[in-house]
Amino acid sequence: MQADLIITNALIVDGSGGAPVRGNLAIQDQRILAVGEFQPPAGANTRDAGGKVLAPGFIDSHTHDDGYLLAHPDMTPKVSQGITTVVTGNCGISLAPLVRDAVPQPLDLLGPPGLFRFATFADWVAHLQAQPAATNVIALVGHTTLRVAVMDDTARARRPRARGDGRAAGRGHAGGRLRRIHRHVLSAGGGRAHRRDHRRVRAAGRPRRLYATHLRDEADHIVPAMEEALEIGRATGARVVFSHHKLAGERNHGRSRETLELTPGRPRGSRLPGLPSVSGHFHHAAAGPREPSLAHHDHLVQGLSRGGRARFPRTHADIGPGRAGPARKAAAAAAIYFVMDEGDVERIASFPLTLFGSDGLPFDPRPHPRQWGTFPRILARMVRESGLMTLEQAVHKMTGLAARQYGLAQRGRIAPGCHADLVLFDADRVQDRATFEDPIQVSAGIDGVWVNGRRVWNEGRALPAYSGQVLRRAPDAA
Ligand SMILES: [Zn+2]
Repeated sequence: MQADLIITNALIVDGSGGAPVRGNLAIQDQRILAVGEFQPPAGANTRDAGGKVLAPGFIDSHTHDDGYLLAHPDMTPKVSQGITTVVTGNCGISLAPLVRDAVPQPLDLLGPPGLFRFATFADWVAHLQAQPAATNVIALVGHTTLRVAVMDDTARARRPRARGDGRAAGRGHAGGRLRRIHRHVLSAGGGRAHRRDHRRVRAAGRPRRLYATHLRDEADHIVPAMEEALEIGRATGARVVFSHHKLAGERNHGRSRETLELTPGRPRGSRLPGLPSVSGHFHHAAAGPREPSLAHHDHLVQGLSRGGRARFPRTHADIGPGRAGPARKAAAAAAIYFVMDEGDVERIASFPLTLFGSDGLPFDPRPHPRQWGTFPRILARMVRESGLMTLEQAVHKMTGLAARQYGLAQRGRIAPGCHADLVLFDADRVQDRATFEDPIQVSAGIDGVWVNGRRVWNEGRALPAYSGQVLRRAPDAA
């Protein structure tokens, strides 16, 4: 056996959801060469895992790391959690295709204007390939970005001269060569995204692969919002991903029973049969009935300003004038709010199709702690402390299930021939350390991370191995 590295004495959680097994793992070039109880050859480069968990690298299904990949390619907030792949362009906002000296809200959430320098999505992908970061990237195209490229003002209702914006973005220099990115995907924000817009984009670029949507409503009107998204999925043939699955406001507590019923692929008969699979993202910010969470999304800001006092009375009380404490903490964010019932959080998190995503804003000087701690927090709280799910179930959601939903070939699993995206961690000790008071903190217990066979994180330190790749849906992906 000719291996670059053999990790010995590991508890292998392979990403399939199957039970952990003890064994060794050999890496050669960018791939997993062998797994099991083989004997490492004499003189081989080995690392004793000391019985710790070796799992596929985690896939962060909901990020706004587009610009951070350029500015901070070490990707410390992510590799320090064991994340080896980030999905960018969520909530309808992507860095490309757009060139602007000043960017309007909400695109400014992605970072400083200087980062918006890619006239076409293909340019952006080519840049990521030429100067990779430490993590792999699944790059979604943001619908709001496409609209800004041709309209300037996303708050404005679509007017006749802006009709066909998707087509224009697909053909014109602003959007550019959308046809060439048909193997990428489209992500839409809430706000003014309209199903006809999506059909136009589809007509221009035939994305038809995956549609990640920030639902129009996550409170009283969530069911029509979900049905609308599912209808778009049905009309375009795209797999639908709900970028959040939240039930905001106390009067909606418990309604995850109803919303999960809408999700195709659930164990028993669906009210909407024959639709593509759907997965909901969950991020730990919503954990705990009274845990504050910072919201950055413009529709929530709108919600607060338009009758938000009634909808989110606690929020107004907490961040309104005269309450300097929480408001100061939220200085760079939009709001602190208390949204979810713990029962809903647990029901959604343990739903078989739910993926995990951090949904942080990496350039925020006081980011939500989830940017640095989501995945270790799930392993600590939902696996070790509460037993809500087993270790192998949690790892499956973070790896094999996510890889399947995003159509990735030979990722998200530990098996010979798969790409060597790996995390070695101590299941007894893994713990997030980021807090609202001190949100920029690496987690404990993540011992080593490899991306495409190169080690990017070791014992609390990022290593300058920028081995990430741009990942695309496999042509034969379901
Ligand atoms: Zn988001």
